[in-house]
Amino acid sequence: QSATFDNGSPRKTLVILGSGWGSVSLLKNLDTTLYNVVVVSPRNYFLFTPLLPSTPVGTIELKSIVEPVRSIARRAPGEVTYYEAEALDVDPVAKTVKVKSVSGSDADAVRDLKYDYLVVGVGAQPTTFGIPGVFENASFLKEIPDAQEIRVKVMNNIEKATTLPVSDPERKRLLNFVVVGGGPTGVEFAAELQDYIDQDLSKWMPELSKELHVTLVEALPNILNMFDKSLIKYAEDLFQETKINLRTNTMVKNVTPTVITAKCGDDIEDIPYGVLVWATGNAPREVSKSLMNRMESQNSRRGLLINDKLQLLGAEDSIWAIGDCTFYPGLFPTAQVAHQEGEYLASVLKKQYKIDQLKWHTLQNSNAAENDKLKSKVEKLSSQIKSFKYNHHGALAYIGSEKAIADLALGESMYHLAGSFTFLFWKSAYLNMCLSFRNRLLVALDWCKVSFFGRDSSV
Ligand code: FAD
Ligand code: NAD
Repeated sequence: QSATFDNGSPRKTLVILGSGWGSVSLLKNLDTTLYNVVVVSPRNYFLFTPLLPSTPVGTIELKSIVEPVRSIARRAPGEVTYYEAEALDVDPVAKTVKVKSVSGSDADAVRDLKYDYLVVGVGAQPTTFGIPGVFENASFLKEIPDAQEIRVKVMNNIEKATTLPVSDPERKRLLNFVVVGGGPTGVEFAAELQDYIDQDLSKWMPELSKELHVTLVEALPNILNMFDKSLIKYAEDLFQETKINLRTNTMVKNVTPTVITAKCGDDIEDIPYGVLVWATGNAPREVSKSLMNRMESQNSRRGLLINDKLQLLGAEDSIWAIGDCTFYPGLFPTAQVAHQEGEYLASVLKKQYKIDQLKWHTLQNSNAAENDKLKSKVEKLSSQIKSFKYNHHGALAYIGSEKAIADLALGESMYHLAGSFTFLFWKSAYLNMCLSFRNRLLVALDWCKVSFFGRDSSV
């Protein structure tokens, strides 16, 4: 697209890749009248990931935690163009993004999009560390289709198991639900699954619910390693109480359709499973990898390397990268970081617009004295673009039985909270963080529905 402002200056095209925490935070805070804003994402909605582990068992409905990109764009002050497409590659020299449509009459059509400025916020994909059989047999918990797949597998296994005699080892296998990865994703999902068994299945399938087992497998000696030690102990003790089978120091090495093979100390053990959920962290997406391959300065395998102003190393003048697709020491792949980066970038792009306007005036002007003044204004404005400073508010995790843990940062002090009161705090914090009033209301109604009628377990 090419367009101009009233004063004749060219309006620059800003392409934003992704519709997740980073990109949507940018979009919500950006003055979209300053650029031709084009959003490219294969997902036409924002997903509130912190409540995703609650969805496979029906504590929260999927519709309650999504917000359409178009409704976010409509609230922006200027026009925003949205393409339901996937970025395949970026050419930082030609300043183009190769995109593939994922829907509509031109599905699969590939075209080049020209940009002046590009923001890469494509997130990450689940990592498997190349362990054989994971992609073929496990479910991940990253996106809406993942949650739907887990729900179908859980419900189908329960139904299948009821057709087999109690003594049949196949019945035992079907009813062993294994979660690999003791980070917050694995822990929160294991907790939700055990809640579902204890609070719902125990009422309408009391005998079978006693045969169901949730196993959480973690390679390191402890789960939830980013939390304070006292909270780790609290969570591990609660898991023991609720009978979640916690297998720490157990590293999965191989997966077949029915068995995972794990190394526990010097021993190798086979663990038969019915449903396997894999949550061992993040790896870069293909588009990030191809961008890395184009630049010598991009020599990390963990993500796109950026500087302290979130500019992509090797393309500092035109590309920024935010969120899980990046790697920068001290910035973890969390929604909190991505959200703050989006906010910061919106303010940078406002200053960048002013700088570009001054530069354009300089080009139009033939008066040397005035140009010197304009140039010094540009320098002053450029120096006002400060480094990104992350403000850590803490970390929260749901651990089951209506209990949560929280590491809270207040000023210089850290507070460690755990229990039922912390669960209420967890609920109110996440309600507060929901993107829209509609999301907030739907999530609150889902929690009320579950407390009155239990979880909806239909597929
Ligand atoms: P995402 O939010 O993943 O968004 C990436 C976007 O890019 C998506 O819209 C995607 O469709 C799009 N995209 C993908 N490929 C392409 C492509 N090729 N071209 C264009 N667009 C593309 N963090 C917390 O701080 N607190 C929590 O409680 C928490 N809970 C979580 C629970 C779960 C189950 C998960 C999986 C993560 C959780 N996180 C949490 C982490 C948090 O979700 C991420 O850190 C955050 O989503 C990162 O934001 P992002 O914008 O970088 O990526
Ligand atoms: P993670 O990287 O935090 O944890 C993955 C875990 O899997 C690690 O403990 C690792 O030791 C283990 N693991 C790796 N390979 C293994 C193997 N072969 N066998 C057994 N265990 C293995 O991953 P995550 O939980 O998916 O979280 C990803 C990011 O999202 C993190 O930054 C996290 O902080 C964030 N997140 C935050 C919240 C929250 O704040 N409540 C919730 C979910 C995710």
